[in-house]
Amino acid sequence: MTKTAAALVVAAGRGTRLAGSDNALPKQYRPLAGRPVLSHTLDALGNHPRINRLVTVIHPDDVNHYSEAAKAASTETASKIGPAVYGGATRQQSVLAGLKALALEGFDYVLIHDAARPFLPSAVIDRLLEQLQAGNEGVLAALPVADTLKRADQSGRSLETVDRAGLWAAQTPQAFPLQRILKAHEKAVAAGKLDFTDDTGLAEWDGMTIVLTEGDPAAFKITTAADLRRAEQQAELQLMSTTPASPLPLSELADVRTGIGYDVHAFEDGDAVILGGVAIPHSSKLKGHSDADVVLHAITDATLGAIGDGDIGQHFPPSDPQWKGASSDQFQMDAMRRLSERGGRLAHVDVTIVCEEPKIGPHREAIRSSIAKICAVPVSRISVKATTSERLGFTGRKEGIAALASVTVRLPFQDED
Ligand code: MG
Repeated sequence: MTKTAAALVVAAGRGTRLAGSDNALPKQYRPLAGRPVLSHTLDALGNHPRINRLVTVIHPDDVNHYSEAAKAASTETASKIGPAVYGGATRQQSVLAGLKALALEGFDYVLIHDAARPFLPSAVIDRLLEQLQAGNEGVLAALPVADTLKRADQSGRSLETVDRAGLWAAQTPQAFPLQRILKAHEKAVAAGKLDFTDDTGLAEWDGMTIVLTEGDPAAFKITTAADLRRAEQQAELQLMSTTPASPLPLSELADVRTGIGYDVHAFEDGDAVILGGVAIPHSSKLKGHSDADVVLHAITDATLGAIGDGDIGQHFPPSDPQWKGASSDQFQMDAMRRLSERGGRLAHVDVTIVCEEPKIGPHREAIRSSIAKICAVPVSRISVKATTSERLGFTGRKEGIAALASVTVRLPFQDED
């Protein structure tokens, strides 16, 4: 049976202010590519299919910063986020508080991760879980030490070169069977051992055997202002990067194609409609087999149209029970995957929403950024417009919402004719 796994993100530290910075905002809440560092970290964990729950340990003063970060995470991540837990005075106390919260939900495994390591590759998560599945009591992501190591005295005089054979630099996540590491933490408190700064250290103190698995240099910890600049560059690259299947920059993709999409969903009793992945409070909801996100359905059809690959109903039949109540971002992500398999990239999305109610204007920017996030493109490539139909027809009678989308993609030019 597949074991369940949860992630515990340690974000309670208020830290010393980032070197070279006047901003006292803790580093995990500093903006990185337009959203808080922590929201990137949450996505790195939450977008992994094997992570079922995310609990973040925060400082009580950071409630607003935290909710901003959680809100900026992907819809998939958002669906896994549990209530935040208040941390204690030390990292050890904070982790214990988070473990107790997760234990109430009965997960098998826990990955304990630093909030300030936003670029955790999913392959590292795979390796950690594999090692736990193999029966290990604790697994640590680590990197072999590459630099020559020196020991120096207090005046800075070099005393010796330290042999780096067998030396590893510890990263996070550190992964454990949840009940086992909780027991070790409780035992440490009972023994008055309160100064562990690292969970594998505490685990080893309790006699647990820890194995190392290969970490990734990308999963570096943001500590200094220089780290933040490096993170900024990495985030930019990630956002604009082409997937392995689509290695070319937009400027070299000469074949420009456009698709159109149209969708309608009727209102039924409810309290919110979901448009472009954003829940908008309303006196009705939209009726449909999935979450009835009429905007994303139109965009998905337009994306599929641009690459001539059928339509949403063909790939995700409404008769298939697995799409019941499904979040529609996965339909668009599937269309994006099909585009990327052809070596293409999405260049622009333009949507028109037709309804009398709810008013779209106040939510327009939220819808834009949500679509941008789902399509993994900058928000400047997404346009959202709204209109009424002058009280004419079904939208005019407030019976439902219609959406039209046009999607422009660019593909490698191929001599087909
Ligand atoms: Mg639909």
